[in-house]
Amino acid sequence: MKTLSSQLYERAEELRSFLNKANHAYYVLDSPLMEDVVYDKLYRELIDLEKQNPDLITPDSPTQRLGGKPAQGFKSIKHRVPLLSLDNAFNLEELMAWYQRTKKVIEEKDSNQLIKPLLPMVGELKIDGNALALSYSNGMLVRAATRGDGKAGEEITSNVKTITSIPLSLQINNPPEWVEVRGEAFIPNNTFDEINLKREKNGENVFANPRNACSGTLRQLDPQVVASRRLDFFAYTLHLPEEWNPQNDDLLKPQGQWQALQWLKKAGFKVNPNAQLLKTMQEVQNFFNFWEVNRYTLPYETDGAVIKIDNFEAQIYAGFTQKAPRWAIALKYPAVEAPSKLIKLTYQVGRTGVVTPVAIFKPVTLAGTSVSRATLHNANRIADLDLHSDDTIVIRKAGEIIPEVVRVVKELRPFEAKPLNLPTNCPECESKLIREIDASATCCINSSCPAILRGALRHWVSKGALDVDGLGSKLIEQLVNRGLVTSIATLYELDTALLASLERMGVKSAENLVAALIESKKQPWHKQLYGLGIHHIGEANAKILATSFPSISQLSLTAKDSPEVIQIIHGIGKEIIESLNQWFSNPCNQELINSLKRVGFSLEASEADVAIQNKSDKQLQSSVNGKTFVLTGTMESLSRTQAKSIIEKNGGKVNSSVSSNTTYLVAGTKSGSKLTKAQTLGIEIINEQQLKNMLSIE
Ligand code: NAD
Repeated sequence: MKTLSSQLYERAEELRSFLNKANHAYYVLDSPLMEDVVYDKLYRELIDLEKQNPDLITPDSPTQRLGGKPAQGFKSIKHRVPLLSLDNAFNLEELMAWYQRTKKVIEEKDSNQLIKPLLPMVGELKIDGNALALSYSNGMLVRAATRGDGKAGEEITSNVKTITSIPLSLQINNPPEWVEVRGEAFIPNNTFDEINLKREKNGENVFANPRNACSGTLRQLDPQVVASRRLDFFAYTLHLPEEWNPQNDDLLKPQGQWQALQWLKKAGFKVNPNAQLLKTMQEVQNFFNFWEVNRYTLPYETDGAVIKIDNFEAQIYAGFTQKAPRWAIALKYPAVEAPSKLIKLTYQVGRTGVVTPVAIFKPVTLAGTSVSRATLHNANRIADLDLHSDDTIVIRKAGEIIPEVVRVVKELRPFEAKPLNLPTNCPECESKLIREIDASATCCINSSCPAILRGALRHWVSKGALDVDGLGSKLIEQLVNRGLVTSIATLYELDTALLASLERMGVKSAENLVAALIESKKQPWHKQLYGLGIHHIGEANAKILATSFPSISQLSLTAKDSPEVIQIIHGIGKEIIESLNQWFSNPCNQELINSLKRVGFSLEASEADVAIQNKSDKQLQSSVNGKTFVLTGTMESLSRTQAKSIIEKNGGKVNSSVSSNTTYLVAGTKSGSKLTKAQTLGIEIINEQQLKNMLSIE
């Protein structure tokens, strides 16, 4: 058994070697091994480990150095003023903590309290490009270098001279003897797309992102290639000789970052127009929140905001760490992707018996919420990911999107990790799982499997089906686990006394539930049909089928003996017909039908159903008869064949192209030229829901 300290030692070693490899790929080869957020997270883990256990720090730790080694073919030159990185904050709390920390340091040193308050700050966008150090001598650009390790960078003057937004000479009279300007070279998104398109055509490797494309370009040996990549540049840092003190009102020596930006503008540099002087911490937060949402409107990539203390004197008091100034911080946009460690796979058995693997991993915060599980869909997905036990996995969750496992970081796989797969037996009832050849789904086909039964019951009582109030998942679980309910029909044999004796149930709730169950028997036939949970029979299809087949026996007979009739009647797809056929051929389901009838379900249209149906048929005919429809785009719940068949059955016509004779254009998502034509001809345009209303489909 490993001791805790040896485990920590091994983890630090693992992280160091992995991050060093990643740095080389990123800074030297311009071909990142992983997403930035993954790098950031692992880097943070190493910093935290080293902070808590300083013995673990080694001289080759990536936390002890900045950037990568210079690429071959370039001269290394020392920077006049070191060019450092930035510390990161990953949320507003970390930003506040940085602010408090910095304030304390400055206040301690500023014993005369000259710099009070610490605000304002300057908010700038964090341009996702490459830092450049530009040296001007008597107003002329004489040298340009990459950041390198912060102390020395690669000399790339000829390349930088091709960037048209960098002035070759300062546009000021009597410039100081030397001026050092720092800023970000970047490739705008449009140009990046063009470059990659061209590379793809030429069979070359595409760049992973604009930042890597930019860094690869700056290190090109041929300045002509650099010129063709149309780089751009925003200046953000200015260093001037201490003794330089002009008396020219127009170009005074800046006392803070905000004035420095104005100075740079006057000297002919392109300064990002979105920088802002922020007077309160609330304004700082607003600035960040605004750009987090609006960054996508910019024609270049940004990966956060940089918040800098404005006052230069305060900056001096704050000082530097080994790698970054203390007076500035990069506040990164919240991650939509992050790495995590797989804890285990669990398996959910759905109401149709399909087994879905779910990855359970160490909680990570993504897009503002904590996530710790993600579905893996099926065995194919596990195989595609090549998932092993204890793997480090990358999770993604953007906005409302359900979390997903994007990939496995194989480089971090422990030696003893074992490949994972679906179990051979049902995790609920232990019966053998079935996977048909070529099918992605793995199923439990034991109809009395408790997981299938629980799913079937939940579906039966749901709003769209029999709508039984007071029968939640917890109660269903109790009923199934104690063997009190063995099928949907046995729900109706429960009595008040028994229900009242269950956990979290009282006499009143038991009585209400029994009443709700009795009431549910009055639900219309199409809801009963939907409630049976036949694969592919959603609410819309149940309604269509219930209209043409007023009883379960008619539907069952047709599905078994002449399924083509169902297809002809409503353009219902093959998949659905097959599913109906399978369902009705299963003796367990025949038994279910009989037992539902025994407890009082008619499983057919009542007189009231028929009356409503007749009324809506008439309405339907009057709204559809003689009208010409054109269908375009994708519809969500109706297939085109279904819509066409119902329209035609009710005397309407469906044409394939729009003309002045068209009554309605039904526009689904991604509608194209037909929509434009209908708009030009002034044809009435309706959406899928409006069509469904017209066709009386819920
Ligand atoms: P950084 O990019 O996080 O921040 C510092 C840099 O921000 C500065 O050097 C400067 O170039 C830039 N910047 C942009 N706008 C600025 C502004 N307005 N003011 C000041 N600076 C501004 O730090 P870094 O040291 O350049 O790179 C570290 C980052 O690189 C990591 O956080 C990681 O995301 C990424 N990285 C990724 C991998 C990978 O494998 N994917 C490997 C190494 C590093």
